[in-house]
Amino acid sequence: MADVKIDIKESPFVESPVVPQQFDENHVISFNCYKGIECFNACCRNIDITLTPYDILRLKKRLGLSSGEFLKRYTYPFEFNKNSIAGVKMEPVEGGTECQFMTDEGCSVYTDRPTACRYYPVGLLSTRRADENVDRMSYAIVREDHCKGHLEPREISIRDYRKEQGLEDYDDHGRGWRQLVLKMKSAGPAIGTPSRASLQFFFMACYDLDRFREFIKSEGFNATFVIDEATRESLLQDDLALLKFGERMVRQIMFGEESIERRADALHALAQRREEQRRLREELEGDDIAPEA
Ligand code: SF4
Ligand code: SF4
Repeated sequence: MADVKIDIKESPFVESPVVPQQFDENHVISFNCYKGIECFNACCRNIDITLTPYDILRLKKRLGLSSGEFLKRYTYPFEFNKNSIAGVKMEPVEGGTECQFMTDEGCSVYTDRPTACRYYPVGLLSTRRADENVDRMSYAIVREDHCKGHLEPREISIRDYRKEQGLEDYDDHGRGWRQLVLKMKSAGPAIGTPSRASLQFFFMACYDLDRFREFIKSEGFNATFVIDEATRESLLQDDLALLKFGERMVRQIMFGEESIERRADALHALAQRREEQRRLREELEGDDIAPEA
């Protein structure tokens, strides 16, 4: 990895205190974590966890909540950069720093725990060079005093650790979003300040999937974009298909990467709708100030 210049601050998952040394999957760590270890739960007592869209999807399903309800109860938003796209972090318990899912028995959502929890104490450094269109994955090791797992004698490669923690699916489904975040961060001023509407769209398409599904059903969407019946059906039924489609739409709206067909008459129809809305507003304002007869 020595030939690749990477700024680890570019990683969506950079956490302090990451030892800024990068490893590939073959790197072997000495680590084990199990119920009964003296520091059990210590890592869940002071959380700073960025969620991926796939994490949110898994957790909201697990808890039987809509994406909107989940976001409201368990998360708070933050900006990756000033005036830039938002990320979502887990909200700790009220007035404390512990994870809301921590119990004396361990994690109450263990089989659906987020990507960052699965990786710990490995840090994923998803990075992208300015002259490349693909991201690269490398890893760092997070060493914190409270974590005694590093003292355990079990040796395991990062590749096997990722498998053990069920990270392959999580990384596959989180990849599109990671690339969007990196693209946004590395594009910086080149694409100008994104409009408020496009930032809101990013948030909805990435994190608030149930609201995004309503948008796909809306008149506005269907007056603008053409999708065939099979695609529509899968977007209405399948959360993963919706997640991927959301990433495509973000690319189209924020970066001009057109992949979803627009109706030829969409611009004309949009102009007409705006004109109608303007006329209606004028009429309503006229009503407000009309003198009494
Ligand atoms: S989701 Fe589970 S593993 Fe992650 S911090 Fe919360 S309790 Fe710990
Ligand atoms: S060994 Fe580390 S990861 Fe495992 S419970 Fe202890 S602090 Fe958490």
